Amino acid sequence: MRLVSAEILDFRNLAEVQLRFSPGVNLLVGDNGQGKSNLLEALNYPSLGRSFRGARDDDLVRFDAECAHVRLTAKGEDDREIEFEYGIERGRGRRFRVDGEQVKRKVDLLGRLTTVVFDPQTVQLVRGGPEARRRYLDQGLSMVDAGYLLHLQAYNRALKQKNRLLRDARRGFVNPAKVREDLRVWNSEMASHAAPICSARASYTSEIEPHVADAYSHFADRVSEVAVKYEPQLGNSLKDAPEGQLEADILGKFDYIGEDELRRGRSLAGPHMDDFEVQLDGINLRSFGSQGETRTAAIALKLAQGDLVHLKRRVRPVLFFDDIFSELDRGRTGKLQERTGESHQIFIATAREEDVSDWRPVDLRSWSVRAGGVTELV
Ligand code: ATP
Ligand code: MG
Repeated sequence: MRLVSAEILDFRNLAEVQLRFSPGVNLLVGDNGQGKSNLLEALNYPSLGRSFRGARDDDLVRFDAECAHVRLTAKGEDDREIEFEYGIERGRGRRFRVDGEQVKRKVDLLGRLTTVVFDPQTVQLVRGGPEARRRYLDQGLSMVDAGYLLHLQAYNRALKQKNRLLRDARRGFVNPAKVREDLRVWNSEMASHAAPICSARASYTSEIEPHVADAYSHFADRVSEVAVKYEPQLGNSLKDAPEGQLEADILGKFDYIGEDELRRGRSLAGPHMDDFEVQLDGINLRSFGSQGETRTAAIALKLAQGDLVHLKRRVRPVLFFDDIFSELDRGRTGKLQERTGESHQIFIATAREEDVSDWRPVDLRSWSVRAGGVTELV
């Protein structure tokens, strides 16, 4: 998949930008704070239906404007054009159109524009906190399995209700008999979605493992065994539970901790607390890996995500590298460029031109980004 062109109005500091892209490598160069990441954010927005930097929609509208408007043309692997259009109105939400048709549900948007983003947070994926790893699983699975997202959304809705109930109960706002009855209702709703979520995560981590190992070996100087181990917070026994038994097992665990949850006034277990571990030759990288090892593993995880999308959907995702080369040494930067440069369309934002200066991919287009203006360099 590749982006062909973009028209951007009043998105962040990009007042008015029109661009046609290279199907190969697109390089955005400029000093700090000029709008490079903003541009990547605008291009990537339709893939998740939100900012990859986690910003609120209102923050994406240019300070002096009421409404941001972006139109992107892309081409699929079959060369068919697809047009994404979105508008964000300050305080009023956003609208999406794909090929002229309004798209209301997030699940109908996901998977249309397929991308993988590498940014400075990416290198913390292995070493940092578990939220980022859960987000990694959720994004990866959403790209290949629309049903997963529906379960995740339903699970999160039920979790919110359950937490509200537990909080209210602790403050004595709800009649105790009613509390237990409602708790059972939310627990069984949560278990019915937790079961497919946990089994999807278990298969995803085992499916992605050989791809992570392959990508890792591309960067490493010596051969190591790489493993990706799903760590369901509800316990490893879940991984072996037979298909039909999983939901009942999870419900059993929820019931078991029910009294604890009532005392503490919040939910204490479920896939919203899951994690996974990356191991190198049997050693947990999060606790024992060097800086270089954990960074390399993080990049490998992301590359593997793209490989899996290609394997399952025959789509090569567009890759966004926001300021990533400055996080890697020269050797690894070169290898990353080599591995991705010929197979994918790539967007690179960098303030340090020297990080890419000795790279000469065939289809290269470069722009200078300054104060929200973008001009092509020839
Ligand atoms: P760096 O190299 O430091 O990563 P960058 O070129 O990626 O820089 P961006 O994050 O794209 O920088 O742009 C940051 C600039 O955008 C800031 O100066 C900020 O004030 C401006 N900006 C952010 N949001 C808005 C907005 N809604 N309206 C106008 N300007 C904005
Ligand atoms: Mg930036």
